[in-house]
Amino acid sequence: MIPHADVMDKDPTVLLQMLFQVHAQVTLHNPLCMHEFSAVGISSSIDLKNPKILEAAMLLYKTLPCSKSYGSVDIGAQFWFTVFCDALKSPTFKVPNGCCTNGHCPIKHFYECIHKTLLDMSAPQTA
Ligand SMILES: [Zn+2]
Ligand SMILES: [Zn+2]
Repeated sequence: MIPHADVMDKDPTVLLQMLFQVHAQVTLHNPLCMHEFSAVGISSSIDLKNPKILEAAMLLYKTLPCSKSYGSVDIGAQFWFTVFCDALKSPTFKVPNGCCTNGHCPIKHFYECIHKTLLDMSAPQTA
């Protein structure tokens, strides 16, 4: 797998699109690792089709240092969101990652942001 930094030095969009395609295919067919989440606290009545979830997750992600370089998360936000939601519906809730096993992987961070957003949106409104 090509490390993120190498790609950033060269020219941009085409390479990044290709890299996203690789990350997406590996994620679907031969993931490098799985991130395990808990569904505890996520309301079953939450509407995963609500575009506000993805928007809020992306806003949260953009506050992280690891999101500064443009990459697979930006290109395929909807794809990663769908992968996460599919895993949420499965009994084990392990989310595949076809990018890398780095603890600071942007895709891993984005999954964490989606998870946090779903928890926040499930919490009883106090206001
Ligand atoms: Zn990080
Ligand atoms: Zn990665």
